[in-house]
Amino acid sequence: NAFSTLGLNAELVAAVEDLGFETPSEIQEKAIPLLLEQETDLVALAQTGTGKTAAFGLPLLQHIDVNSKQTQGLILSPTRELCLQITNEIQNYGKKIKGLRTVAVYGGASITDQARQINRGAHVIVATPGRMKDMIRRKIIDITNIEYCILDEADEMLNMGFYEDITDILSGTPDDKSTWLFSATMPKEVATIAKKFMHSPHEITV
Ligand code: AMP
Repeated sequence: NAFSTLGLNAELVAAVEDLGFETPSEIQEKAIPLLLEQETDLVALAQTGTGKTAAFGLPLLQHIDVNSKQTQGLILSPTRELCLQITNEIQNYGKKIKGLRTVAVYGGASITDQARQINRGAHVIVATPGRMKDMIRRKIIDITNIEYCILDEADEMLNMGFYEDITDILSGTPDDKSTWLFSATMPKEVATIAKKFMHSPHEITV
């Protein structure tokens, strides 16, 4: 399987093989080796349907230490629907990794149920910004050990008015984390976030 040439480990290659992925897409070919090899920030201009979820999800999972209970990866996405879709994809990619826990956090559903999920452990959290900020404020989620922060559909999140939630959340994460920003377009607000929170990011356009 061509995914093994990108540097992914056997569990992840087997998982994508089970999903029927044969050839990496362009964004996957460009992003996966980079994100596996280097602790780097990334700005990727990519539309949906390009395979961007796997482009960030696979390297993220390879970096997760399942022996630690800390939340190490955070994916922010604009809507509940997208949040659930990403969670489902990440769970599929990670299904051969024993003990890995990925939890979805989004508005319009019971915070108690989500808190219970978080308390059982969450290596990766996939969240919408408003509910995420609320759960941080209530000390249900600890973001002080986040190592990888992914902003998916950054332009959409900012269109929806999440600028302040996003900047508040990012401000509470460690300075030395890696930030991977995915966006279909690069309006001023997205560039502002990149400038404020990212350190000489690599840039990929597909
Ligand atoms: P995304 O752009 O991340 O929303 O992905 C679009 C769809 O393509 C999803 O349903 C993925 O499961 C699927 N997909 C992603 N990468 C590949 C690949 N390399 N080969 C086949 N399908 C893929």
